[in-house]
Amino acid sequence: MTATLEIGAVSITRVMEWEGLFAPATELIPDSDDRFWDGERELLAPDHWDPASGLVRACLQTFVLRSEGRTILVDTGAGNHKERPYLPVFGHLSTDFLGNLAAAGVQPEDVDVVVNTHVHVDHVGWNTVLQDREWVPTFPNARYVFSKSDFDFWNPLNGHERHGALVNQNMFEDSVLPIQQAGLADMWEGDTHRLDSNLTLELAPGHTPGLSVLKLESEGERAVFVGDLLHSPAQILHPDWNSCFCEDPRLARESRRRVLSWTADNNALLVPAHLGGQHAVEIERCGDEFTLKDWAAFT
Ligand SMILES: [Zn+2]
Repeated sequence: MTATLEIGAVSITRVMEWEGLFAPATELIPDSDDRFWDGERELLAPDHWDPASGLVRACLQTFVLRSEGRTILVDTGAGNHKERPYLPVFGHLSTDFLGNLAAAGVQPEDVDVVVNTHVHVDHVGWNTVLQDREWVPTFPNARYVFSKSDFDFWNPLNGHERHGALVNQNMFEDSVLPIQQAGLADMWEGDTHRLDSNLTLELAPGHTPGLSVLKLESEGERAVFVGDLLHSPAQILHPDWNSCFCEDPRLARESRRRVLSWTADNNALLVPAHLGGQHAVEIERCGDEFTLKDWAAFT
C-alpha cells in the first residue's frame, strides 16, 4: 500500500488533514433516504457511511501532484485556527497538516502552484496561516490559481446572494483575500485553463459558479480531480442527487453527469475531494447509469 500513485509521468500523493463523521447522510444528500443507504450498506459502510449514526464519513485531503518538475497542490482543506461560527466542525482546528505534507517530502516553500477546485471553506483553508495575528500565504513561492467566477462570487463586496454564506463565513477574508493582497493570485476565465502539458482545469459549475475539475492526461493515462462535484459514491449511482451545499441544483446535475460520462468513457480515475476508503475509483457507464469498478491503491 502506498499513498502515491503514478498516472503516466505525473505522481499523485495524498496528504491527509482530517477524517471523521461529518453530517447525517440524508441531510448532506437530501434526495436520498434511509432505505437507500441501508440498501447499499455493502458498498458504503463503513468507509463512506456509518450505519450506527447515519452520518457520512468524509476526509479532508490535499493531492500533491508532481508534473513537469513542479509541485502542485489540489485543494487545501480547512486550515488551522480559522473562525467558523456556523461550521464548528472545521473551526479552530489544530492539525499537523504541514507535518503530513513534510512527510510527503514537501516544504511550504517547495510548492509552485496551488489549485483550489472551488472557493469553499474546506478547500481553501491552508492557503493561509496565522502569523503575528495576520493571515499570510502558507506557500510563499506559489501561484494560487482561482477561477475568476468563484473569486467574484465569494467576494462579499460584490453582494451576491449565496446559499452557503453562513457556513463559509470569514472564509474569503482569511483564506482568499490575503492571497490576492500578497500578489500571488492568478485568476482564469472561460471554460478551460491549461496548467501544463499534463494538466487542464475545466469549469464544471453548479456546486459553486466556478467549480473546476482538474483533468490529468499523461502517456495515455487519465485521472480527474473533481472537488465537490460529488461527496459520496451514492452520487455516482445517482448522479442527479445534489449535496445540500450546491448553489445551482440544475447546473450541478448537468456538470456531474457530463464529468462522470467523460470519466467513464476515457477510463479515467475519479478523484473526489472527500471520499474515504481508498479515496479514488474507476467507474463504468451503461447508458445514463454509472457503476463503480476498481478503487485506487491509496492508503
Ligand atoms: Zn468540500
